Amino acid sequence: MKIAMIGTGYVGLVSGVCFSDFGHEVVCVDKDPRKIEMLEAGQVPIYEPGLDALMAKNVEAGRLSFTMDLASAIDGAQAVFIAVGTPTRRGDGHADLTYVMAAAEEIAKAASDYLVIVTKSTVPVGTNRQVKQTVAKANPSLEFDVASNPEFLREGAAIDDFMKPDRVVVGVQNDRAAQVMEDIYRPLYLRDFPIVTTDLESAEMIKYAANAFLATKITFINEIAALCEKVGADVKSVSKGMGMDGRIGNKFLHAGPGYGGSCFPKDTKALARIGQEHASPISIVETVIKVNEDVKRRMIDKLTDLCDGSFNGKTVAVLGVTFKPNTDDMRDAPSLTIVPALVGGGAKVRVCDPQGKREGEHLLPGVSWEEDPYKAAHKADLLVILTEWNEFRALDLKKMARKMETPRMADLRNVYSKRDARRAGFEAYDSIGREGYL
Ligand code: NAD
Repeated sequence: MKIAMIGTGYVGLVSGVCFSDFGHEVVCVDKDPRKIEMLEAGQVPIYEPGLDALMAKNVEAGRLSFTMDLASAIDGAQAVFIAVGTPTRRGDGHADLTYVMAAAEEIAKAASDYLVIVTKSTVPVGTNRQVKQTVAKANPSLEFDVASNPEFLREGAAIDDFMKPDRVVVGVQNDRAAQVMEDIYRPLYLRDFPIVTTDLESAEMIKYAANAFLATKITFINEIAALCEKVGADVKSVSKGMGMDGRIGNKFLHAGPGYGGSCFPKDTKALARIGQEHASPISIVETVIKVNEDVKRRMIDKLTDLCDGSFNGKTVAVLGVTFKPNTDDMRDAPSLTIVPALVGGGAKVRVCDPQGKREGEHLLPGVSWEEDPYKAAHKADLLVILTEWNEFRALDLKKMARKMETPRMADLRNVYSKRDARRAGFEAYDSIGREGYL
């Protein structure tokens, strides 16, 4: 089967590469000439473990290609996926559908034979019907169906998530479109991965409800962590004990500096907005959005305390700025709140991140970049662990403490313990939801 994939970002590129690995002929389209040039030269524009090898394998096999020309990509395709961005619209929290609708119009103008237009982007309930209207208006003679196929992959583990999904969600309006979707995902059907086939609105809602639920779970444990600090409990033990309950589960129960990334912040806002628009507010999600901001602010308070009340004149080493490990994605990362607070408060900030520099250089003005965490900590007054990259999970803390002017640590991912820090010679250590200081 021939498939066109519009958008070669984190979702479009991974999906396109994986579909080609299923054996389909896939043409990936992007408007960004830099991305297409890189892809044509065999380079991956994003950092996603394993993607370069899988991409090279399928290009070599002649199943995967890249172009800026949408018309040639959809020529002969039975399905075209829309995997463009749906960022937060400025001002009202709604998902910005400009890119989705522009892609729908372009498809309509270029298509002549029956095809299924599949929305993979995360879009508000009702968007697939809107896509259908837009296409029908732009090309009234075109025979087509729409399908909703939200994506659940996680950056950093995207290929495995795509190839071994917990489930695939497909929203359709008729059997013909359902059959095309079944053909596309046949390798997963054959391996017994669950496929939820439903209507368009339910498919759209599943994605937002799932992301909002996960954001709520993270925020819940972050608030419990704040209370743990007050009452002398240890949130690591609390989440372990909670997570062993099969009804709760241990995933997304790690306390930290607040959720970030390309999905949770924008999807919680969009869901809250959808609720308001339908006079059915999702108050719990509205509260989660607010509490997550409080969590980030609380992190700044912790750092301020560790700097004796002021960042002015202090040197701070920050380890990790991407929103999580194994990605170069900086969108809505907690570092974008925390690092500017340090710089704005007069601190000299040195940053170390295995993949964050390319994006981070533009987003975090006024900091210097180091490749080596120990160099970043040289004569520093405070060490902040902000993203738990493997590279920062087994630091030689003794060496680190010796390098620093005042060995103090804010471990915002609970990688180490007070005992580890004390043994290594740190004079102060604070983490999340555990007794702080030495
Ligand atoms: P992204 O910003 O990384 O990529 C979007 C790409 O689409 C860009 O390369 C852009 O140039 C291209 N594009 C925009 N309009 C185009 C057009 N008309 N024609 C061709 N190319 C066009 O976005 P992303 O992170 O891949 O997210 C895409 C969608 O998937 C979003 O709705 C997001 O919410 C959803 N999603 C993302 C993730 C994730 O982990 N990033 C996970 C699940 C779902």
